Amino acid sequence: MPETTTPVPAALPLLVDGARVPAVTPDLLPVVEPATGRALASVPRGGPREVDLAVQSAARAFPAWRDVPVPERAQVLFRYKAILEREHESLARSVSRENGKLLDDARNEVRRGIEVVDFACGMPTLAQGRTVEGIARGIDSHTWRVPVGVVAGICPFNFPAMIPLWMFPIAIAAGNTFVLKPSERTPQTGLRLAELLLEAGLPPGVLNVVHGAREAVDALLDHALVRAVSFVGSEAVARHVYARAAASGKRVQAMAGAKNHLLVLPDADLDLTVKAVMGSAFGAAGQRCLAGSVLVPVGKAAEPLLERIAAEARATRVGDPFAQDSAMGPVIREDARARVRRFIEQGLSEGAALLVDGRAAPGAADGFFIGPTLFDRVSPDSALAKEEIFGPLLSTVRTGSVEEAVAVANRSRFGNAASIFTTSGRAAAYFRRNVEAGMIGVNVGVAAPMAFFPFAGWKGSFFGDLHATGEDAVRFYTETRVVVERWS
Ligand code: NAD
Repeated sequence: MPETTTPVPAALPLLVDGARVPAVTPDLLPVVEPATGRALASVPRGGPREVDLAVQSAARAFPAWRDVPVPERAQVLFRYKAILEREHESLARSVSRENGKLLDDARNEVRRGIEVVDFACGMPTLAQGRTVEGIARGIDSHTWRVPVGVVAGICPFNFPAMIPLWMFPIAIAAGNTFVLKPSERTPQTGLRLAELLLEAGLPPGVLNVVHGAREAVDALLDHALVRAVSFVGSEAVARHVYARAAASGKRVQAMAGAKNHLLVLPDADLDLTVKAVMGSAFGAAGQRCLAGSVLVPVGKAAEPLLERIAAEARATRVGDPFAQDSAMGPVIREDARARVRRFIEQGLSEGAALLVDGRAAPGAADGFFIGPTLFDRVSPDSALAKEEIFGPLLSTVRTGSVEEAVAVANRSRFGNAASIFTTSGRAAAYFRRNVEAGMIGVNVGVAAPMAFFPFAGWKGSFFGDLHATGEDAVRFYTETRVVVERWS
């Protein structure tokens, strides 16, 4: 009998000069569906040669693209917006398949991404500079916003559509050319997004795609023709990207990891709070940089809150992200599930109270499923309270006052987001003023800024000056040119 072999899926191409081209390297990485463990595709582990092809293409395209009038650049983005609306459902399905998040969640992700395209369509207004007539006798002065050149975007796995869309629409509308490196764990959606922009009429070379992991990233960071780097990913890699790209004189924004606190006061609306905490801690299986992962009840808030959260966590149906009755999908890979399990064991060994054990959750046998996990009485010094776990594990640190709760949040080396649940305006104002985080929720569990605001992490959650999205992004992707003119 002939041996049956599992067919190796075809390797994804690079996108260079507007065309699909095969990678030079024969080294392939599998792209695995988290809900089934099956290989969906394979992706070349690109390095300096692939990166050079893409960067040279972007550098060649830059002079002509910079000279395209900004309203014409915006027209390409308007057409792209229409194409993304047409493809909304297929893109959401692509996100669910390669990332494992629920289909509805993926639809919302694609919507958040399209909103960035909406924002970028306003570039003729966004790119305006300032003018002062008469800075001296007969002399006028203006500032212009001009594109920086070739920009690289390096993406994480957890928002395969939204995070690439944070980057290239704004950069390209501002007149830059771009090299996108999607996560090697979720590369199909990013590649598709780039091809759809070509369909909208983007000239060849303005947007290129390379694949791979560390080697591809380092090649982008070192390439002399790359002028700016936008990175989103974990803290350790963000530090590396920030230091290495800055060392070669590039401008960098590096959005990093998080450990977000959810403060609950005894006067909070319990129904609203429970729903918001469940969504924040366990939505997308806890794999959001805005996920609440430390619950900080104040005083008498703890008992009723934990009772309700524990009941809901136990009842959460974990399973197929495409099934209507699933409330949570898998985590991205076996190593992510193993990390959550290690933290559960650590919590137990430190004497924290395991109220809900996600290891016991039923789930499809071959996918990377682990259920919602809830710990009570976690020490604020424990790794459970300090480290980013990036899975569906919520640790509770009990406190006696809002001041103590804010102090617990502020001990974190991260500062991405923090939320408070209360009906007291005074407590909310104290929290808003004193908590050391850039994105603040008041009775909101996931304080996600819209596209026209900056995604404003602080402390170890962000390295750089100008954040992704909003006016910050326009400034990040443009240089300021000051003109002083005399016509007398
Ligand atoms: P990751 O750091 O593992 O990977 C991010 C990117 O860096 C990928 O493209 C990957 O190929 C590359 N990379 C990985 N290791 C590298 C190395 N040693 N050297 C150079 N490049 C390397 O992150 P992830 O697991 O894909 O994503 C999850 C992380 O992203 C979490 O920490 C999450 O908090 C963070 N995140 C942050 C934000 C934010 O805005 N602050 C948003 C989304 C995700």
